[in-house]
Amino acid sequence: MLLAWASGLALRLPFKSAVIERNNYRLFIALTYLCYLGIIVHLLFIPLFLQLGVPELAIINVFSVLLWVASYFFNRAALHSEAFALAATEAVAHAILATYFLGWDAGFYFYFFSTVLYIFLNHNQSFRIILIQSSLILLTCIGLHIYTHQPEFESAISGNFLDALYFMNLFVNFTAFGIQGYFFRKASTENDKKLELLATTDPLTGLFNRRKMLELAESEVVRFQRSKKPFLMAIADIDHFKQFNDNYGHDCGDYVLKRMSALIKETLRQQDVVSRWGGEEFLIMLPDTDLEGGIQAFEKLREMIANTQHEYAGKIFSITITLGVSQFDGGLNINDTIKLADEALYKGKREGRNRIVTVQSIQN
Ligand code: GH3
Ligand code: MG
Ligand code: MG
Repeated sequence: MLLAWASGLALRLPFKSAVIERNNYRLFIALTYLCYLGIIVHLLFIPLFLQLGVPELAIINVFSVLLWVASYFFNRAALHSEAFALAATEAVAHAILATYFLGWDAGFYFYFFSTVLYIFLNHNQSFRIILIQSSLILLTCIGLHIYTHQPEFESAISGNFLDALYFMNLFVNFTAFGIQGYFFRKASTENDKKLELLATTDPLTGLFNRRKMLELAESEVVRFQRSKKPFLMAIADIDHFKQFNDNYGHDCGDYVLKRMSALIKETLRQQDVVSRWGGEEFLIMLPDTDLEGGIQAFEKLREMIANTQHEYAGKIFSITITLGVSQFDGGLNINDTIKLADEALYKGKREGRNRIVTVQSIQN
């Protein structure tokens, strides 16, 4: 029966790492390194305890190594709860037995702290279970302290060796704390970055989304209030975009959007801000730019786009864009500035597309 259970288990544990869900990644990576630490440390304990004349603990450490190896494979197989249960059971049982044989001063109680830390970091457990587990560990710790401080208690090894073990355990547990802290911090920083990217960019084109664009425009307004240097807002709209969808399919439309985004970004300067404003509309901001300089830049962009040929599924075509340009000079707020750019854009569409229309040219 044992054999059947073991072989069933072996079949469930793939040699190649299973796909780890994103929210389990930090537990997974921290436990991977804790397993390395656990395997190495317990391997070292085997000859050490034999040398110290405590063969019971040497034998126990053989099982400890096996448990850490098993925990490592469960972890790789994305069986996180099982991996955690094995590792935590090993750490706690080992700390109890070693303290029982060697006494408090061997420093095996440190393993309780490292285990409690992992228990608190394990989001797969309810807070009630976390409290129960850590309270039981605390009670065990207190019980062991009382037991090992009885006058008749005697350690299985002598003082100097106890000191050596104490420092070794101190070092191992500092390392265990470091591993957990480092990987949790790393994973949460990476998560923050991913979420920031998701919240601020358009997934199809990789350009800033509407929200981020408005945020950047507002900071440009703050800069304007100090420097009084105007900046430009322009809406660029792909001409007859619907025909790409209608004639060649939605994928072609998406392809055109991606190509346009890349072309706009390549042609403008580094400090210019490009966003996807709506379906096939881009809102572009040129900081610290007057109308004359801006028109030059947009004219270059318009021409470059009109002169570029594209190929999709064997069809060759070119694309044009129409731009409505508005200058922010403190007279209007940012929303009204964009609204005026939109009006200029529609004038450009009515006049035949593939052109630039400025708000100022409408007003004059
Ligand atoms: P105009 O020259 O007047 O701007 O004409 P147009 O065809 O470019 O403009 P219209 O507003 O009539 O059509 C825009 C189309 O863009 C309609 C919509 O289905 C399509 N669209 C919007 N978002 C996406 C997208 O993410 N992918 C694709 N493939 N198409 C999109
Ligand atoms: Mg269009
Ligand atoms: Mg449009």
